[in-house]
Amino acid sequence: MNLAILSGKGGTGKTTVSVNLALVTGAGYIDCDVEEPNGFIFLNPSQIKSEEVKVDYPVIDSSRCTLCGECARVCQFNALVKTKKDVTLFEKLCHSCHACGIVCRQGAVTFEKRVTGIIEEGQSGNISCKRGILNVGEPMAVPVIKQLLGNLPPGVNLLDCPPGTSCNVLTALQYADGAILVTEPSSLGLHDLKMAVELVRYFGLPFGVIINKYNEGGSRIQRYCEGENIRILGIVPCQREAAELYSSGKMIIELPEYREVFEGIAEGLREVFPWN
Ligand code: SF4
Ligand code: SF4
Repeated sequence: MNLAILSGKGGTGKTTVSVNLALVTGAGYIDCDVEEPNGFIFLNPSQIKSEEVKVDYPVIDSSRCTLCGECARVCQFNALVKTKKDVTLFEKLCHSCHACGIVCRQGAVTFEKRVTGIIEEGQSGNISCKRGILNVGEPMAVPVIKQLLGNLPPGVNLLDCPPGTSCNVLTALQYADGAILVTEPSSLGLHDLKMAVELVRYFGLPFGVIINKYNEGGSRIQRYCEGENIRILGIVPCQREAAELYSSGKMIIELPEYREVFEGIAEGLREVFPWN
């Protein structure tokens, strides 16, 4: 079972919730925030194995090319431009769809591979950890996310998703059986929570909400959840000691009060997403 942990916005504490929940539940931790994966800082896995993520890109054989321009016309992403002299590829715009190769009647298009990221896998105690890392300057995270999630450890996995509701999140949700939405008690938090709710409902996923960094503003989130009949899986308080632990790369469940909160969330998860 794969549980996506997402938030409509960045900064809600999605990774904090993910890594602490992984420790409390023993579930696998999968960092899908491939543009900025930081969960390994907290879990510090060892025995790291890595593999490259490669994508296809077209290579034009100029000795066969008649400069008909069909390949550039069919490319939905403007990755190919036909000039008077040749066909030029802007490789970072290419989505590896192969349409240019299909339409070329001269057989002038072949495909080669280039590396756009890596997948790392390791072990932190009894927790299987995996993450994708998109190379700096690469615009497309989706191939890295797909390779990362295409081969997950058996059992329950917590998918620490990218922030927001972009296509990167949509890609991760395609591999999820349920979702945990992490929000914070602010107007912006509520606004973006509503977008995340819309998204998981569109996917038809069972889900619940965790209100992180809870303060007096949290009541508006509670009212919204009650009105929408959304289960609140847990409320994580906002305390200076927790922020200090987080900023030094430690787990907030080192504080007994927080461990109790996360154990309560783990119990709630087993009711909403029964896995044993
Ligand atoms: S479709 Fe083939 S022949 Fe036509 S411009 Fe492209 S590569 Fe050249
Ligand atoms: S593979 Fe697809 S996206 Fe890439 S250049 Fe060809 S048509 Fe464009």
